[in-house]
Amino acid sequence: MIDLKALTIEKTHEHFKNGDFTITDLVNAYLDVIKEKNKDINAYLEVYTDIKEQIKNAEEMFANGTSTLMTGIPIALKDNMLFTGHTVSAGSKILDGYVATYDAGVVKQLKSKGAIILGRANMDEFAMGSSTETSAYGVTRNPVNRDYVPGGTSGGSAAAVAMDGALVTLGSDTGGSIRQPASFCGVVGMKPTYGNVSRFGIIAMASSLDQVGPMGKTVRDVEILYNAINDHDTDDSTSIPNELRIKKDKLKKVIGVPKDFLLSDGINKEVIKNFEESCKKLEKEGYTLVDISLPLIKYSLAVYYIVMPAEVSSNLARFDGIRYGQSAPADSIYDVYAKTRGAFFGKEVRRRILLGTYILSHGYYDAYYNKAVNVRELIKAELAQVFEKVDAIITPTVPFPPFKFGEKLKDPIAMYMSDLFTVPANIAGVPAMSVPSGKTEEGLPLGLHIMTAHFQEDILFAIGKDFENALKN
Ligand code: GLN
Repeated sequence: MIDLKALTIEKTHEHFKNGDFTITDLVNAYLDVIKEKNKDINAYLEVYTDIKEQIKNAEEMFANGTSTLMTGIPIALKDNMLFTGHTVSAGSKILDGYVATYDAGVVKQLKSKGAIILGRANMDEFAMGSSTETSAYGVTRNPVNRDYVPGGTSGGSAAAVAMDGALVTLGSDTGGSIRQPASFCGVVGMKPTYGNVSRFGIIAMASSLDQVGPMGKTVRDVEILYNAINDHDTDDSTSIPNELRIKKDKLKKVIGVPKDFLLSDGINKEVIKNFEESCKKLEKEGYTLVDISLPLIKYSLAVYYIVMPAEVSSNLARFDGIRYGQSAPADSIYDVYAKTRGAFFGKEVRRRILLGTYILSHGYYDAYYNKAVNVRELIKAELAQVFEKVDAIITPTVPFPPFKFGEKLKDPIAMYMSDLFTVPANIAGVPAMSVPSGKTEEGLPLGLHIMTAHFQEDILFAIGKDFENALKN
């Protein structure tokens, strides 16, 4: 008997072609797991009711020779991706019951390739958080150990893969929201170059930082899903035309390690030890590791927590009780805004709107926002210079292992520390990926963070695969 959920996308595709099992068999295997585990794990907020029709379309693609590697592959969306006729809430009460009226760019791609979209996965409210605890629809539990958070904000997408509730999933990443939960749940998660994947129809958090990306059990599965969704989209003004995505020709097999950055305060000892072991494994695979100095990178987190809330305060202005979702009863137009936003936005979202509005206010705009934007350019330039010499920069994905529920929720700064190593890739717009790198003594997953220059996704996947192999040996 074949364990249907243990197969990679390529293996599954082969079996489909050989007629060893049907798409319905595969989908049912995943749906059975969801039925069994989701009550407790809460990775999915909803399983869609039109799966049978989707399967029919995929079967037709096999029958008429238009199938792709993604045809018939069960996938979940993060709850901030629009899928016509389906509910979408961004993990927020303010959008409770909102039904999408058009397809996100990535959903269009998945549909045209015949993927089976099983449902939508839980997330921190409006993608703000690092633990999926800020979702208005309950926490998601880490399938590896249910006493621990799955990370966030794409915690539902990561947990869905880790619990065998989907073969691959999509997440979104503004400061680490794909890579950090991937690391916490022991799966692979990748954030593409800014502009490589369409943001059209994704509920925006911070538009200059947001990117959609793939999650899965292997680097190759993640690569296949990335290949299926990365394309120029004229509906997204920041989407980069394919011909401008210039790739370097060859892997030099040189990787930079930012030693000073790794000595930052608050980095867990087990994380450092695991990272040192990862470095040795890459050296065994024939990579040369060199010390690099990135004196400005330590300002990334500060820049992020200025630029991001500023963009959040603008983007979330549209949730006014009139245009979308919920509306609180009120006597005046002002009260419609105030009461709706007060009642239906959670605490973290309100904190960031307040912070962002303050940052953008007259008198503070220059001192905070403009300064952050300038430092952002300097960080980008610093990274670009280093990428002249190295293929990639590696660090741990998160400064600490998965934590327990409630441990960091009351202390925003401690929660924000989750993003230390992941945020620079969003600040600079470069691609980055987390690959499982082993476990703590307690058996909690850890991840290696690999970052490459703009458009060098191929190099990222190549290094990721070498690392996966090294880990097996
Ligand atoms: N943890 C980060 C934050 O809270 C990242 C969020 C994200 O990438 N969407 O902002």
